[in-house]
Amino acid sequence: MSSTLDIVSDTETVANAAGETSRQPETCRICGGGQLVDLLAAPDRFHLRKQMYRLVRCHSCGGVWLASAPQPEEMGRHYTEDYHKAIVTAGEGSAARRWKDQVKLISHYKTGGAILDLGCSSGGFLSTMRGSAWELYGIEMEESTAERARATTGAEVFVGDAVEASFLPASFDVVTCFDVLEHVYSPRQVLTRVLEWLKPGGIFYAMMPNIDSWEARFFGTHWFGLELPRHLSHFSPRSLRYLMTELGFEEVCVKTPPVSYMERSAGYVCSSLLEKLGFSPTPQAKPQLASLPLKVVRRGLRVFVAAPFARLASFAGAGPSLEVVFRKAPGGPQR
Ligand SMILES: [Zn+2]
Repeated sequence: MSSTLDIVSDTETVANAAGETSRQPETCRICGGGQLVDLLAAPDRFHLRKQMYRLVRCHSCGGVWLASAPQPEEMGRHYTEDYHKAIVTAGEGSAARRWKDQVKLISHYKTGGAILDLGCSSGGFLSTMRGSAWELYGIEMEESTAERARATTGAEVFVGDAVEASFLPASFDVVTCFDVLEHVYSPRQVLTRVLEWLKPGGIFYAMMPNIDSWEARFFGTHWFGLELPRHLSHFSPRSLRYLMTELGFEEVCVKTPPVSYMERSAGYVCSSLLEKLGFSPTPQAKPQLASLPLKVVRRGLRVFVAAPFARLASFAGAGPSLEVVFRKAPGGPQR
């Protein structure tokens, strides 16, 4: 992915990419195609670490993933306490307000039944579905977080890898998966389980970053949605459609809502510039209180730049976040 903004990190990118072949001796994890090319190389900008990671892209289906991903046992050092704190902070405030669009969308397709939130964290989303109409279920990697979800929502929460969850086939009317699929090692396996768990006519509702978005193209290696090396797969409308259809799902809707990661990405560009000038910027992993002038500038950029751009990108289907609904065929999977 080429971007004019990548000039600030060219040294590290080129240094890492030098000597790498442009084609990998492997096949696409989505379509099996053999024409893979290097897309970009970038470090973990959230923690401002130096180690470089390489993304490869399939020429046929547009699928993108992290080449040489860290082993699962090494991942602990990439999911730091700061990272978890940032996730919790982002989820603070009223869950009803935060998830109102998602709840509304679900009600458009289903008004009750059994719902499973894959990667339910401490139950923020599930708490908004409480009530007599829904039986709540979750999957969460961490026992203490799962316990919080159980305590606040009454949901039955499986702890561990989604692929190993022991739910019975045709158990759920709805399976949700918000900003999780890009973190899993084998999305294909997880989605295969999801299809199995859904009742005929049940829906799978997911959100994830869009690697083909305008923001991703503009910010290049500084795009916030890259989240290297925690994001292992990077989907686009094209690659996700390919995968889901191949697995046997039916497309209901694929859209990009009017959201923006621009402020975070611009922060990464600023950090790179400061580093080039010899300063030691504070990583976004350790947020600091902004001064009043900075708050005013941010607010102005949000209202007059990011918001109109987000609406335009969303309208063009090129927003930075993918929001998708797929369905299990009412008569069962077709294959
Ligand atoms: Zn492919």
